[in-house]
Amino acid sequence: MKEKKLIITVWVAGSDKELPEEDRQLIEEAYKATKQAYSPYSKFNVGVAVVLENGVVIQGSNQENTAFPSGLCAERVAIFYANSQYPDIAIKTMAITSLSNGKQNNKAVYPCGACRQSMIQSEMRQQKPIRVIMAGSEDIQIVDSIKSLLPLTFDLEDYR
Ligand SMILES: [Zn+2]
Repeated sequence: MKEKKLIITVWVAGSDKELPEEDRQLIEEAYKATKQAYSPYSKFNVGVAVVLENGVVIQGSNQENTAFPSGLCAERVAIFYANSQYPDIAIKTMAITSLSNGKQNNKAVYPCGACRQSMIQSEMRQQKPIRVIMAGSEDIQIVDSIKSLLPLTFDLEDYR
């Protein structure tokens, strides 16, 4: 048996001042989206902003439900909307932000496993990497592809 090592690169910044203007604006749009979250149960608002190759920005926020599995995370709300409205236009970058009890969290917010699976499907579909900015007020982490968030990805095409 031999060892297989996976190397993942994550860019880390202590504040948005270290980022280009375009990324700062996308984070701002993601924070605006947190205000539209429906999170009476968790009180944890997640806001996402996605920018497409044509410059269109799409926002998403978490939408909870009294029957818990019926709700949906902000990431999937935004990605599914983008893919349904602009199926032929690639997503360039996605910014994810969060609030706890109405206050910006310091730490970066990571997408859940189910969202990572949906995000990587979009990336495979468009055949171009999607950058992901996971932002907190004092901790911003960026990956250049969803592959960094979901290594050893399942792809049915690999078995055909
Ligand atoms: Zn999720």
